[in-house]
Amino acid sequence: MNYPKVELHCHLDGAFPDRLFIKYCREDGLIPEGVSDDDWMKQHVMSGTMSLSECMGLFAILTGLLQSAKRLEELTYEVLKDMYASGTKLVELRFSPQSHVNPGLSMEEAVEAVLRGREKALEEYPDLVCGILLCMMNLGLNLGTTVNNTRTVELAAKYKDKGVVGIDLAGDETATPIEDYADQFALARRLGVKYTIHAGEAGPADNVRFAIEQNGGRVGHGIHAIEDDAVVDELVRNNVLCEVSVTSNYYSRCVPSIDDHPIRKLWDRGVMININTDDPGLMGIDLKHEYDLIAERFGFTEKEFILSNLYSARASFCEGKEKIIAELTQAFHKCR
Ligand SMILES: [Zn+2]
Repeated sequence: MNYPKVELHCHLDGAFPDRLFIKYCREDGLIPEGVSDDDWMKQHVMSGTMSLSECMGLFAILTGLLQSAKRLEELTYEVLKDMYASGTKLVELRFSPQSHVNPGLSMEEAVEAVLRGREKALEEYPDLVCGILLCMMNLGLNLGTTVNNTRTVELAAKYKDKGVVGIDLAGDETATPIEDYADQFALARRLGVKYTIHAGEAGPADNVRFAIEQNGGRVGHGIHAIEDDAVVDELVRNNVLCEVSVTSNYYSRCVPSIDDHPIRKLWDRGVMININTDDPGLMGIDLKHEYDLIAERFGFTEKEFILSNLYSARASFCEGKEKIIAELTQAFHKCR
């Protein structure tokens, strides 16, 4: 059945389409002579599990390619174009402004570049609903990161009515306790900025508890909640949506195997799940790949997928989503 898809957890720098990745690598002279585009792609797309440091190495290359406003704008537009073409009608795309700062580009200019790419996509696809999330980074405690994270919250407030719909805490969940970011979430609440938090991805169920207590209504991944029944109950009681990415969780070794992923168990306990790619370019997948995988390995039915999308649309920070919610509600009632 045809129903609009909702993807709320996708990192811009992890979403490079192959064509753009090759183009920028060629422009920057990164591809050695004699190496074909296909071989270069194979070396830079994950096809199995990797350690955190190996993942970070690949991310460093992607971020390195994105150090100009022109490329940030172009990538945003191209990623949204591909998502729309595959049936995703409600998108939240996230990126970390502080990862693109250099002498020629400020955090603010990076945000404006991404927003220009979003505007261009919205002009072309008027029924697309899209918001940008600005990621704070967990890079371990240091003054520079703390200043940049606070600045990220302030920028989200400044661009609240211009396409930025909230913030996130990304990076290495295990670098420093996520409780250390409570001040930034308090600031976000004061400024009326919505947020989701990467929690319980690589970290423990206690991190999910912290995210629930922050009352943002959403958690990035949250899969390790399964290790503590009380935390699962809290997710259900507080109507918290978990933004889950099965392939990503396996590739980054957050679950030992696909079959060990707790998506089915969480869903059956009543946790609202949103299905995402996380880093589709880096992992060589698209959203259809995830739906096919989840249907095959975890027996999700079409009706369950529609319901998952309906929960996700309701939990989205974007405005203008009423039509999509109505379409999903209708599709749910029609589905046997
Ligand atoms: Zn993520």
